Amino acid sequence: MLKLYNSMGRKLQEFEPISKGEVKMYTCGPTVWNYAHIGNFRTFVFEDVLRRYLKFKGYAVYQVMNITDVEDKIIKGIKQTKMSLKELTQLYEAAFMEDLRTLNVERAELYPKATAHIPDMVALIKTLERKGFAYRAPDGSYYFRVSKFKDYGALSGVRLDSLKPAGRVSSDHYEEKMEAADFALWKAWDPDDGDVFWETELGKGRPGWSIECSAMSMKYLGETFDIHTGGLDNRFPHHENEIAQSEAATGKKFVNYWLHSEFLNIRGEEMHKSVGNVVYLRDLAKAGWDPMTIRLFLVTSRYRDTIDLTDSSLEQARAQGARLSDAILRLREVRGEKADGTDLARSFLQEFEKAMDDDLNTPAAFAALFSFVKQLNSLMDAGSLGRAGADSALDALRRANSVLGVMSFEEDSLPPRLAELVAQRDLARKRRDFAESDRLRKELLSEGIVVEDTPGGTRWKMAGRG
Ligand SMILES: [Zn+2]
Repeated sequence: MLKLYNSMGRKLQEFEPISKGEVKMYTCGPTVWNYAHIGNFRTFVFEDVLRRYLKFKGYAVYQVMNITDVEDKIIKGIKQTKMSLKELTQLYEAAFMEDLRTLNVERAELYPKATAHIPDMVALIKTLERKGFAYRAPDGSYYFRVSKFKDYGALSGVRLDSLKPAGRVSSDHYEEKMEAADFALWKAWDPDDGDVFWETELGKGRPGWSIECSAMSMKYLGETFDIHTGGLDNRFPHHENEIAQSEAATGKKFVNYWLHSEFLNIRGEEMHKSVGNVVYLRDLAKAGWDPMTIRLFLVTSRYRDTIDLTDSSLEQARAQGARLSDAILRLREVRGEKADGTDLARSFLQEFEKAMDDDLNTPAAFAALFSFVKQLNSLMDAGSLGRAGADSALDALRRANSVLGVMSFEEDSLPPRLAELVAQRDLARKRRDFAESDRLRKELLSEGIVVEDTPGGTRWKMAGRG
């Protein structure tokens, strides 16, 4: 039975979807004003593992991830780059999708954009106004009346009185709203917004950030749905605001399970623009780290633990990846009819599932995986694993990898020119021309290909991939 840690109520709960066999899940997506950083991808990879594990458990998953393509940071980006809203957001949306593919993240079923859902947001704000939860400020902006929503703070534990500013607040925003805790649903046009505005029943302006997620999640998943996820930094105020807006409008419970991933630190420090230590996926790739190493680093820790990105943590992940790909290569080459490893594969999968059922305990799942690999290696060292056992082991690894997404089972293919060099080297070795064979080995190495000699002939792999 799958148990998940629900941020609402802060306890482990057995997972039970609203409709049998089907999970509806909303994951807060990126604000496409810049590349997403590695901390953001920690959350997106956690959500990917959650989605994959739900599928492993037999559920049909319907996942919606919004693309926030209108927001304060985007307006800032437009000013800095002189690009149009469309140019800027399309550029970074495409980069985001590319980064997801690089990290082997499965596609969600739907990626709705905020700018394509302005009428849904306007309708929701009008409902809130009609019910007395929203009001219009003198400048034409609309705010949510937080004091009228009694459960505000239930998710994050933030107390309403702590939101009241001490003394006079100079920010002109506070003069428009009635209470400091009130948050913007609709922002009236300001000259700073340039040509970013919509003419609507609410006037000329643009939506607040949180109303985007309330409107799009309920439109595609219903007024009450199963799982809502995000990074811990989304829990307050963003998710608290989403709950207030949605539940005030519908009178129904918005979400059954809230899941949040913890922060990712850089060399022991919190990642901040002001500290100047923000790391992007592209930086790590440039530094020579393989995407599978980065994904391994992200998924070997539990999503609710803080993780620390350092060279040594990446190096450790690289070594783990090498151990896995070596085992897969060896398993492929097993021949013969020796003792069966089927029981081993079965008990590994049981251990794996037990770990993942425990709120996606990936450290325990990897411990089971590496112990499985160690046992397989000993059997292969002793020559006592047969083809049938190797096949069941490979099947079990594939099954675990459908969740973890960190192993490659495809026969790698080389560009023809390099494949030719590998074949030539194989021939040189066979005719015992070791000088030529060594020369070709060095030439391949300069192209990033490591060759190894096995009884079956020359085997090659990418340098740095173990
Ligand atoms: Zn959101």
